[in-house]
Amino acid sequence: MSTATLSSYRLSRIKKARFYTGLLFIVLTLSSFVAAYQWVTYQLAEQARAEIRNVIEQIDQLFIQLDKISRDISAYPDQDCASLQPVLLREMLKIPGGLSATKSQPQGYCHSIQGSLAALPLTMQGPSIELTNGMLEAESVLYRTDGMLYEVSERYFLSLLDINPAFIKPSLLINHRSVMSLDQKSALVRGGILKSNLYDYSLQFNYDSNMYHWRIIKQVTYYLLIPLMLYVFASFRIYRFLCQPAWLAGELASGIAHQQFKPYIQPIFDSGGRMVGGEILVRWHHPTRGIVGPYEFISIIERGGLSQKLTEALLEQTATHLAPVAKQLPDNFHIAFNISAEQLINDKIVQSCQRFRQLMNAPHINLVLELTEREQAFQVAEVMDTYQVLKNEHVRISIDDFGTGHSSLLYLQMFQADYLKIDKSFIDLIGENELSNHIVNNVLDLARRLNIPTVAEGVERNDQLDYLTVHGVDYFQGYLFSKPVSMETFIEHYCAEQASETKPLHDDI
Ligand code: C2E
Ligand code: CA
Ligand code: CA
Repeated sequence: MSTATLSSYRLSRIKKARFYTGLLFIVLTLSSFVAAYQWVTYQLAEQARAEIRNVIEQIDQLFIQLDKISRDISAYPDQDCASLQPVLLREMLKIPGGLSATKSQPQGYCHSIQGSLAALPLTMQGPSIELTNGMLEAESVLYRTDGMLYEVSERYFLSLLDINPAFIKPSLLINHRSVMSLDQKSALVRGGILKSNLYDYSLQFNYDSNMYHWRIIKQVTYYLLIPLMLYVFASFRIYRFLCQPAWLAGELASGIAHQQFKPYIQPIFDSGGRMVGGEILVRWHHPTRGIVGPYEFISIIERGGLSQKLTEALLEQTATHLAPVAKQLPDNFHIAFNISAEQLINDKIVQSCQRFRQLMNAPHINLVLELTEREQAFQVAEVMDTYQVLKNEHVRISIDDFGTGHSSLLYLQMFQADYLKIDKSFIDLIGENELSNHIVNNVLDLARRLNIPTVAEGVERNDQLDYLTVHGVDYFQGYLFSKPVSMETFIEHYCAEQASETKPLHDDI
């Protein structure tokens, strides 16, 4: 099995988040688009209907006025045309767009402009509305009612049909035939038909295709801004939810409970090449991702308050593995566990150490706790009681990552450390250049003056080993000797007879 990398592990979460946000985007965009489109077209249709109703009202008013004229005129039943004509003319002048009125009389017709007529080129049968060639204008609306015939100019109707907003294109329908409309040139999108409740005509309304679609695009885009903002917010939450430590912590907690976190061990050697101990380094045997290294999850474990659970699991598994072969391990063999100093806030760690001892049942084995702190989250006083109990229990304390920010000088004052582990970053500097050597010398010097046994971690090359030996480092750990190995490999390789003389191992994880 290969070790899953940090990026691959996080990537799977990011991929998941991408998948969900992508899905959300498609669903939200499609549904919002359909909803916004429906809403915008509904609103436009409502707007158009309101405008058209307004036009119908104005046309109805015209016919109501004509009806009233008819009633008034019928008050003078048998007048001759000479006296009736001025009355007709006066009435017609009140009508916006009115051209003429003709009254049928027993002996002929009386026309508001032409006076008495024996015959009429137009029929008087009504009531009806029609558009036809009138007597006075080429095209006019003829309205017949109660023995009267009115001619109203086409221009007047067209002025009513010329409404704002301009994307609404109405036309007058008489007998279901569109008889009058403005601007027939532009492409139209079908709207609807509204009928007058009082008279026998309708108005059909269509939309100017370009203007209508532009309005839809504008308004739909506007409405899509809301779901878009919602999407951004939701995506942010999804990413946070899927990639946040709290969520991962849930998966980690279940992994710990299901023993997916396995102890690996990296042996530690003295300057004579004898194995004197080993550091337990956790590996996550992830069900789908393979073996995941601690850098990927350890800070999440710590922030999620799972450090103690992890330590308990590792102590227990390590003891279970090593107890049967404990006798093959050299005297004073050190088994070191990494804990965060924060774990000393309560005494659970003490119980875990006692349990380890019980399970191991091997007094010649020393238990060491390597203390480091990625984010210091405790007060000095809070951890001192536990520390004292551990000391009384003969648990050894090692200051991990010595020389780096993770292990502050404060630790040196707080704890009587049994070991200092010089961080790999300093070992890497050996032989680099003069400044690097100077830094390494200072760290080694400080360690020596503190008079605490030192362990160098991350020793990869012989020149580093030589340098460290010359500068008085006591113990060595690193790929030069062995990589961290599974418990099975360790037992097979190092717990045979003559374990302390076993050759270094290079080919595990
Ligand atoms: P650390 O305590 O400083 O452990 C040493 C790290 O250096 C280990 O990385 C080890 O595999 C690596 N290493 C040792 N020798 C060499 C070498 O020669 N070359 C190179 N390139 N690397 C070397 P690892 O196992 O990835 O652990 C990383 C860190 O995770 C550890 O750093 C430790 O702080 C933390 N950690 C590991 N296991 C546990 C655990 O059970 N509990 C806690 N709280 N932290 C743990
Ligand atoms: Ca360590
Ligand atoms: Ca380190």
